[in-house]
Amino acid sequence: MMFATKRHEGHSHGLSKDNQQVAVSFLCVVLALVLLKACFRALGWYIARQRLSIGDLELPEISPTLSSIHNLLGRTQAFATGVGSLSIPPSLDISWIQYSRFSSGKIFLLATYATVIGFMIRVIRTPTSSTHFIEDIAFRAGWVSITQIPLIYLLATKFGPLNTLAGFSYERINWAHRWIGRILFICTTVHMGYFFSLWISYGVVRTELNMMKVVRHGLGAYGVLVWIAVTSMLPLRRWAYKWFYLNHLVSTTAFLCLLWLHIPKHARYNIYLSLMIIGFDILFRMMNVVRNNFQFAGWRSGYAAISSELEDKDHASGGVSFGHLAEVETYSDTDYSLVHGQGTITHLRLRELPFSWRPGQHIRTCVPRLGLLEFHPFTPATCYFPTTSVSKKAGQQDFEAEADIDDNDDLDMDSRVLDLFVLSHRRFTRRLIATAQEGVHRTAIIDGPFGAPPSWTNYEKVCLIASSTGVSFTLSIMDHLARAAVAKRPSSRTLQLKQIDFIWVTRHFCAGFDEAVTALLKTHAAKLRETGVEISIQIFVTSPYSISQGMEESGLCPMDTAGGASATSSLHGEDHEEVDNTNPLVSADGDGFALTALSIHRDINVADESMTPMDVDTFAAAERPLMQSHRAQKNHLDDTIQRFYGQRPNVSSILDTVLPATHEISQIVGVCANIGMASEIGNAVAKMNIAFAFGRRARGVELFSEAFT
Ligand SMILES: Cc1cc2nc3c(=O)[nH]c(=O)nc-3n(C[C@H](O)[C@H](O)[C@H](O)COP(=O)(O)OP(=O)(O)OC[C@H]3O[C@@H](n4cnc5c(N)ncnc54)[C@H](O)[C@@H]3O)c2cc1C
Repeated sequence: MMFATKRHEGHSHGLSKDNQQVAVSFLCVVLALVLLKACFRALGWYIARQRLSIGDLELPEISPTLSSIHNLLGRTQAFATGVGSLSIPPSLDISWIQYSRFSSGKIFLLATYATVIGFMIRVIRTPTSSTHFIEDIAFRAGWVSITQIPLIYLLATKFGPLNTLAGFSYERINWAHRWIGRILFICTTVHMGYFFSLWISYGVVRTELNMMKVVRHGLGAYGVLVWIAVTSMLPLRRWAYKWFYLNHLVSTTAFLCLLWLHIPKHARYNIYLSLMIIGFDILFRMMNVVRNNFQFAGWRSGYAAISSELEDKDHASGGVSFGHLAEVETYSDTDYSLVHGQGTITHLRLRELPFSWRPGQHIRTCVPRLGLLEFHPFTPATCYFPTTSVSKKAGQQDFEAEADIDDNDDLDMDSRVLDLFVLSHRRFTRRLIATAQEGVHRTAIIDGPFGAPPSWTNYEKVCLIASSTGVSFTLSIMDHLARAAVAKRPSSRTLQLKQIDFIWVTRHFCAGFDEAVTALLKTHAAKLRETGVEISIQIFVTSPYSISQGMEESGLCPMDTAGGASATSSLHGEDHEEVDNTNPLVSADGDGFALTALSIHRDINVADESMTPMDVDTFAAAERPLMQSHRAQKNHLDDTIQRFYGQRPNVSSILDTVLPATHEISQIVGVCANIGMASEIGNAVAKMNIAFAFGRRARGVELFSEAFT
């Protein structure tokens, strides 16, 4: 008891004010950084709008000094982004802790953060030697711990100030949420460790625990924190994401409650702030879900809605309804399943959606019948593009764009159809397959959209690289660029696009999926070529099993292959011609061959009896804008698709080829790929930016990357 009283004396012997000031200063710095980022964002938005109305300024003509300052700033920024986005070598990979591979920028930020926290505990306004030294450090560590809690909650939100004001999408900052959480854990360990070492030296551990409720609550909070740290480890998260999520919700609530009991009253503002952050996030998220999914078709159709609910309890077609009907079908791997069992892609289609999304954004989907309150992130393969009438309704002032649309023959501009391609994993995605096989449609609830992609139309050259179902991401960008090119939006003066390179890498050959992707690609390519945009498309199927299957699907005889090797001979190693491995675009370890689409694709206009209504729809939608003149160009279009079977692309060489150092045009690389490929591309682009900073390139390259497991 005597010690406990002493402890409180220690807390009030003057340092308490310092502790509070250090903690409040930390929150002020965080707030200032968020506001600064919001200001930069607003400035960027203002400059973009100015460009829309007056076009790019020719700085060298206006002022050579201004131009050289602009140049210097550009190169400095390119150097910082280049160095910051270099990822650590695969040998130092810690992907068992963390989804994405660490970049040097992230390491730098974390090291800076940890140093600041270390200084706050040990250096800033702490006595170097006093009778209360250990206790002072313990108290300071406690204050530094609780002041980080609102930041950790801020980093976990989807609709918080970091997302809405500063423009950081949740999936890009949750690595910081996890790592700052780990730093918090270390700080609380210091807080508790110092107190325990003191109590042990005085022999009062038992007395402290028996006499002081506050100590018991603190110990409880620390126990919950240990539980959160253990259950948030990546292998457990991967193993059962839903249970991880529910456990995280319950545990963090318990942690806040125990903390509220443990900390002094004048420190509780941290808890209130955290509750406010979560409260607003939940509120805005719920409002968004209601806005996206709630439909009211008038009271008169209420009866129809009720009877429809009674007939098919899953979805109402009129009156009041919640959610959207998702049409579901599956495509099975054509090559892999023969050897290893079934791997499947599910195609979901939702129509007439009442909300908009931007190319490169993703949505979170919940199908209540397949998992209540389970929201899974997926990227649309189509883009939202409103019709002229919708634009008018929305009161948009883009008269120039409207005039351009009216002049255009292609009136099929409306796109409120959202297509998702889902790769099967274990739980939800497997249940989707079963649904498709039963032939029933399900109600899907949509949350989002999320993500802060750039304005793709601002670039002259766009290079899109995707692996597997990441192709949805690149397809939606192609769709958007094609529609923007036809409609000349945002305006013919500001639409910069001149060239697109599209690369899709997939492990297995899945005929249905391949056909759906190719059909969409052909539509977009036709529109883009018509507007004078150069297009190059390369598709790599890396599995050796794909070689024979690709040949079979195409109905090709071995002599048709462009790479010169017969598929069967590549696979079985019987007497075969050497594969041409001198192509710098494929990895040297490749064992396959290359084809142009002309030779391998069945004409999608030829009716196939096995087509499902959704297939027909996909192809019809894809073909609709292909007018007679386009059909005449079809063979030429097919020629633009190069196919490689049984070979991996050499992405660095591809990037060197498509983004030469001499090009002065604005360039961006959009990537949605597995961690390995995303890191390889990130490194290649980082090196290009460093080269630009040192004057070895004419222009830097921007990168927007979305990595997934
Ligand atoms: C931004 C983003 C966009 C994505 N876009 C696509 C896409 O277009 N097509 C596609 O096929 N896949 C996409 N994914 C991956 C997809 O969300 C997961 O594969 C899917 O949720 C797995 O569900 P499951 O129950 O079958 O998985 P499980 O087999 O249980 O888990 C497989 C993996 O998915 C993760 N996961 C499971 N549920 C969630 C969840 N609710 N939120 C986040 N991760 C989860 C797990 O941690 C695990 O690593 C995307 C992921 C992200 C983060």
